[in-house]
Amino acid sequence: MSGGHSSPFAALDGIDDDVGHPKEACGVFGVYAPGQPVSYLVFDGLYALQHRGQESAGIAVSDGDTIMVDKDMGLVTNVFNERRLAPLQGYLAIGHTRYSTTGSSTWRNAQPVYRPGTPDAGAFALAHNGNLTNTPLLAAEAGMLPGVVASDSDLVAELLSQAMAAQGARSDGRDLETALLKVLPSLEGAFSFVLMDEGHVIGVRDPNGFRPLCLGKLETGWVLASETPALDVIGAHFVRELDPGEMVMIDANGIRSLRPFPAERVNPKLCIFEFVYFARPDSQLYGREVHGARRRMGELLAEQAPVEADMVMGVPESGIPTAEGFARRSGIPYGQGLVKNRYIGRTFLAPSQEARALGVKRKLNPLRENIAGKRLVVVDDSIVRGTTQRAVVQMLRDAGATEVHLRIPLPPIKWPCFYGIDIGTRAELLAADLSVGEIRDYLGADSLAYLTLDRLEAAIGAPGAGFCTACLTGDYPTEVAVELSKHMLEDVHTPRAADRTRS
Ligand code: SF4
Repeated sequence: MSGGHSSPFAALDGIDDDVGHPKEACGVFGVYAPGQPVSYLVFDGLYALQHRGQESAGIAVSDGDTIMVDKDMGLVTNVFNERRLAPLQGYLAIGHTRYSTTGSSTWRNAQPVYRPGTPDAGAFALAHNGNLTNTPLLAAEAGMLPGVVASDSDLVAELLSQAMAAQGARSDGRDLETALLKVLPSLEGAFSFVLMDEGHVIGVRDPNGFRPLCLGKLETGWVLASETPALDVIGAHFVRELDPGEMVMIDANGIRSLRPFPAERVNPKLCIFEFVYFARPDSQLYGREVHGARRRMGELLAEQAPVEADMVMGVPESGIPTAEGFARRSGIPYGQGLVKNRYIGRTFLAPSQEARALGVKRKLNPLRENIAGKRLVVVDDSIVRGTTQRAVVQMLRDAGATEVHLRIPLPPIKWPCFYGIDIGTRAELLAADLSVGEIRDYLGADSLAYLTLDRLEAAIGAPGAGFCTACLTGDYPTEVAVELSKHMLEDVHTPRAADRTRS
């Protein structure tokens, strides 16, 4: 399910911009705005969502008669320029920026996925954030041979085409809506979709609401986006988050809300990683600004795991607000200990521990005068394989730190994710079978503490809101297909164990 890269660097690309961190699955955006240059609005929206996926970017636009699609591999700013945006004329559009968790990283899998019209099925385009957990079953039902399904979005597009063909052309233009109402209940797993036909923009959030999706209003139209900063950047005001299990239809008549899923399936489980790491700090989730939640995580970490030290620092970028909170509550001065190279993109390195450490050096460099002779509290957002933290601890010691105390707001990750986040198999997760003390020793830190899950939820401060915490607890909110769990749960190889023998 995750990351089957087909590039010639397949064996080499274990490191990317956010070295050692889990990868997000995608950012989606949609806009219905007559009279506005919608392709440019999508460009700005995708640019604000770039942190959610950096492998490909695409835009589909309709002028009411024809859908045009342009997509390519690379960052939003690499793919699109004036020359490519100007011809994308219309009044409704969707866009997508991708990190591949299902299917390989190739042009064919770039989104939006487009299906041209046929005599009995209308044209449409689709963009997806998430990961379906019943892909093999759905593919079999759709008559797609094993190995033919390029991606979840490809599969859903096929299911929708088949549903449209079966229902026949409708005179009211609601072909795609009707097909969605038929197909959506059969989908399981995580999915935030934006879709469009020639005259509608549609947003869908799965019944658990694993991935965010919000609604914004422009003076002359409506906007859908994975995160609220993508609304801010185009001057749309935030209306609300879509409810888990909600579908919204946007067209010339305004906006309609539909509930395509049975009520018993609706059970809010927003991925808790969104608050800790994925979402931008200026995003609003569950009515809370993410930055404030991260700062409170640091405050509670300082209460839960105090330590005598001279300086608190965060690992850039997502560790910083939590470090500020730790400093504020503990009274230990906050300082900058690492500088991040802002210009590093995707890099290619051999997947050995030494090379991974070099990857960290490419991205982070210590501020020696700030560090030398000091006892440091170092806050990072999460530990997946431990690669980054191990290299950071060594880097700080080499720069003269006398003590390094690690504080982590996300509890130990022990289980794989089936909902679109690439944290690897159990074998790759440092905390899968090591105690906190063993992890501390492996990382070379003087002390290590993780925030407890109840404190993490308290820091987010959205009482009654549901979270997915499956990768921490093993308690998956949905049934996970046997084929998936077998692959992801088995100890197929143990690179971490190999790393340990070298330490
Ligand atoms: S398993 Fe973990 S990473 Fe995946 S959706 Fe749940 S909380 Fe997020």
